[in-house]
Order: sequence, then C-alpha cells, then structure tokens
Amino acid sequence: MKRRNLLRMIGMTAGSAAMYQAMSSLGLASESPYKGPNPLGEAPKGASVLVLGSGIAGMVAAYELRNAGYKVQVLEYNARAGGRNWSLRGGDNYTELGGFTQRCQFDPGLYFNPGPWRLPYHHRGILSYCKKLGVPLEAFNQVNHNAYLHSEKAFGGKPQRFRTIKADYQGHVSELLAKVIQTRKLDEQVSREDQEKLLDSLRQWGALDRNYAYVKGETSSLRRGFAKDPGGGLTGRPVQSEPIALKDVLDSELWMGIPPGEDYERQTTLFQPVGGMGRIGEAFGRDLGPLIRYNAKVVDIRQDDHGVTATFEDTSKSDSPRQTATADWCVCTIPLSVLGQIPMNVGSQMADAIAALPYASSVKVGLQFKRRFWEEDDEIYGGISYTDLPIRNISYPSCDYQSSGKGVLLGAYMWGLDAMEFTSMSPEQRVSKAVEYGSQIHPQYPGEFDNGIAIAWHRSPFALGCFGTWSEEDREKHYDNLCRFDGRIVLAGEHASYVPAWQEGSVTSALDAIGRLQLRAQAAGSQT
Ligand SMILES: Cc1cc2nc3c(=O)[nH]c(=O)nc-3n(C[C@H](O)[C@H](O)[C@H](O)COP(=O)(O)OP(=O)(O)OC[C@H]3O[C@@H](n4cnc5c(N)ncnc54)[C@H](O)[C@@H]3O)c2cc1C
Repeated sequence: MKRRNLLRMIGMTAGSAAMYQAMSSLGLASESPYKGPNPLGEAPKGASVLVLGSGIAGMVAAYELRNAGYKVQVLEYNARAGGRNWSLRGGDNYTELGGFTQRCQFDPGLYFNPGPWRLPYHHRGILSYCKKLGVPLEAFNQVNHNAYLHSEKAFGGKPQRFRTIKADYQGHVSELLAKVIQTRKLDEQVSREDQEKLLDSLRQWGALDRNYAYVKGETSSLRRGFAKDPGGGLTGRPVQSEPIALKDVLDSELWMGIPPGEDYERQTTLFQPVGGMGRIGEAFGRDLGPLIRYNAKVVDIRQDDHGVTATFEDTSKSDSPRQTATADWCVCTIPLSVLGQIPMNVGSQMADAIAALPYASSVKVGLQFKRRFWEEDDEIYGGISYTDLPIRNISYPSCDYQSSGKGVLLGAYMWGLDAMEFTSMSPEQRVSKAVEYGSQIHPQYPGEFDNGIAIAWHRSPFALGCFGTWSEEDREKHYDNLCRFDGRIVLAGEHASYVPAWQEGSVTSALDAIGRLQLRAQAAGSQT
C-alpha cells in the first residue's frame, strides 16, 4: 500500500492523533530541523517588528529580533505569556468559551499541564531556550513497566501491568518465530548461519528457555515479574509467575499500549521543566518584560507599503476604546483557528491557507488526590497507564517521588470523538466522569479524590483547538503559501511547521520566519 493511502486510511478510521503518530513513524512528521543557534546579525537601523501572540513561537521571534536590535512590540490576548505552554496551579482562574469559570484548587507546589507536558531529547530548539533562560529540567517518565494497560473487555476489566503484557507478547512472538525457523520455513529468506543468530537473539529478546519456548520459569519471570518477588532469609523464596496465553494477549488488545513509548518522540530521554511546563513561557515572559502588552486582543490587521498596523482591544477594561500598534514588519503567531476570524488584508493564497487548516480537539483533566496512592499502594512512579475508556490515559507525576501528602495526576487525555463528547460537558461533569472512569483502574479514586480541573481545547478562547492537523493534500496545496511572506506579514507557530503539536514546531517555524524577515528588512533598508 502506498504511504499516502495508508495515512489516509489511518486518518479516516482513527483520527488525526493516530494519523500524526503514523506520520511520525513513517518519518514524515517528527524530526526537528533545528541546527543550533543561528544569530540573525544586526537589524537595519530603526527597523521595527510587531509580534502577534506571546506563545513559544511569538516569544522566540521577539527574543531573537530584540537581541538583533529590532524595535519589538508583542500583543498578547491573555494576561500571561506562554499561550498553550501553560501550567495551572492553586488559585489560578480560567474562563472557557461558553462562560464556565474554573478556579484551580490544588495545594501549594502542585500543578497540572493542560497543554504540553513533555520534551523529547531531540527537540533541540526548545531545549536550547530552556538552557538560555535558566529553566531547570528533570526526566519525564513516559514508559513505566509497572503502570497499567486496561480494557473493559479484557480480563474481566482487571488492569494488567505493562511489563506482563509486553513480556508475554514479545515472548510468544519470539517462540512462534523460533518454531518457523526450526521447521525450515525461512530457508529461502535467511541463510542457515543467520538463522542460528536469529534463534539466539530470539531467545534473549523473548526470554525463551533453552528449547526456545516461552514458559513459566525464572527466565520469563525475570522479564514479566514474579508471582512473589525474591527476598531474603526463610521467607525469601520467589514464586515464578504464569505467562498469559497468546490468545488472551491478542484478544485483549492491550498490546496496543506497547508502541506509544517506542515512537521517536516518546523515546528515552524525555524532559519536563521542574515545576510545570509553564515555567518556559513564564521565563520568556520575564525576559521580554515590557515588550509584551498583555490583555491585548488583536481584532484587525492591516498592511500597506510602509508597515503593518494591528488594532486591538484591552480585555482588562470593559469599555476601553480600540487602540493600534504599528511597525515595519509583522510576525503573526495567532493560531489559525483564531486568525481566520480576524480581518487581515493578505492575498488569497495566504487567506486560503489560513482557512484550510482544521484543529484537533482534545481534553485534559487534572485530578488532585489526598495521597499518592499510585506510589504507596501500586508502586507506580511516573509513567502512563492506558485504557480503552474515554479517558484514554492516566499519567502519574514524574516528580516528588515518595513525598507524603497530596498529589496531582493527569486523569484524562483524550482525542477525537471522546474529546468532543467531554467538550460538550460542563467542567464539573468532565472531572466527575474522569473520576468515575478512572476508578475502574484505581479503585482508590472515589475515596481519595480531592478536586479537579478540566480543559477542553476547543473551548479555549485563545487557541480554539489543540493543534492544526494537516492532511497530505492540504499541506501540498497550502503549506508553502502559509509560510511565505505576504507583503510585510509572515506567519509562524506550530501550524507553520512539520512538527505540529510540538513546541519544537513553534521554535523552528519562528526562527525560519525571522531569518527571512531579516533578509527582507536588510534588502528594504539598502534601498532607502
Ligand atoms: C493538549 C496538548 C498537548 C500538547 N503536548 C505537547 C507536548 O507534550 N510537548 C510539546 O512540545 N508540545 C505539545 N503540545 C503542542 C504545543 O503546546 C504547541 O505546539 C505550542 O505550544 C504552540 O505554540 P505557538 O506559539 O505556536 O502557539 P500558541 O501557544 O497558541 O501561541 C499563540 C498566542 O497567540 C495568542 N492569541 C490568540 N488570539 C489572539 C488575539 N486575537 N490577539 C492577540 N493574541 C492572541 C494566544 O493567547 C497565544 O499566547 C501540546 C498541545 C496541546 C494543546
């Protein structure tokens, strides 16, 4: 099957998130083009730039342009810097479209990332800004062999440990392949010498016994875990565990929880900023200081031969008159879902590109519990449990291990139709549904639940969605037109990148856009 057809099929049946995952696996979507710092050189004397939006893209652009000597002004809708880069902490308020206001009630020191939450080691652009801005990082635990894989339809709804499903799946597959080799079915494809090597590797990879069988024993227990762990003294004799039969592993479909941690973007090592992902946006905001004008909702963007003017409203005042900001150039990083509704005099090619991109829907729910029972009772330290329930993921904090007192976990991270359904609920209902579903995996939920907060991205007034989902056809038709300058305006953001849904896309897109801006500004400067 052609890659394009395969991707279309995945997109149709499983939604954009799966499609993106598949694109990444096929090497189409993931790699960062960031090649290290690329100083702009000096700005033409007196040149000015208006940056719209203080998400990661806007702030990378503003930071580098300012450092090059441009006069920079940033207009930002929110009262904070960061955009989708955001952490919610106790005392924070958030009002979504539809009017629901939530007040985060987490205890001091606890937080929840409604948007980005992990940074792959190869996203060198965003990592380099963490370093420059002094944002400390810690390891984000993606794969936890002791977390759960769960399906309502398998094992009577009893969650299974990731390590048992992974070991059993791998063990059975290895045994089967070993049988195929031993019955000489691969003689045409693989030389005898290589078959010996393959058998040896299968024994190790699959934890097989000396007869190439995956059976109950010490070898398999050392992979899948023991029924009773080894210990010391008279009570220390271990009890080996019984592998789950191949048919049960396959029927359960729990093996679907194995690949996510193998993806390029989720491979070890992942990072998270200490104290929440929002620390990056906050650090950028501090560094840019008065260059950012907060509570400034851009409602109109006009350009002519001399410059660009943005009209904005001050959202902190109910009846303030509209104001304007003008500069020679404009880097606009407003998400296309919002920008498409703002009048702007660009040509039809850019306008069509802006209108072409749909945004994925997603909901995340943060839950505070009275104690870290996942560590204390279940020995789960960080990582993710997967379920086929609408909540899809439960992710445990990758920090403050073994601390006493309350803890916050990600109680739901969903996409597609499930996310649409949750988006239609009130925040309170979303939280209570997340608790209800989660208690099928952790029966401690109802007794330990304290409070929660739920963000539905299609109701966020500043993003109106989670991220832009390019189809292959739309990208071919519109992507270059979206990224090209239109007069004095250039767009940047995750939507203008081949790394959508990652901050690395925002960083690399901003650097690309301002590199071209510098060339234009220099050319224009040399003509005057
Ligand atoms: C649920 C979720 C999970 C994610 N997970 C990850 C992850 O694990 N790792 C990762 O790296 N990335 C992740 N991402 C993607 C990442 O958040 C984005 O790629 C990135 O933050 C986008 O940055 P940006 O600057 O392009 O856009 P934004 O952050 O959206 O910035 C745009 C800015 O424009 C402002 N704005 C909007 N309208 C107006 C207006 N009218 N006037 C003025 N300003 C306006 C907004 O307030 C915002 O500050 C995730 C995103 C979501 C939603």
